[in-house]
Amino acid sequence: MAKDPVCNMNVDEKTAKHVSEINGNKVYLCSAACKQQFEQNPSKYGY
Ligand SMILES: [Zn+2]
Repeated sequence: MAKDPVCNMNVDEKTAKHVSEINGNKVYLCSAACKQQFEQNPSKYGY
């Protein structure tokens, strides 16, 4: 299980629809809104 860094929700990697790739890391997000928020400021979430 991966964790959405934006809202701290658990996200299943197998069924995740919202995945962002940054510096070779895959980041799983629960929704398009969280993905957008993450990509706007990844350093805020430790990336
Ligand atoms: Zn989320």
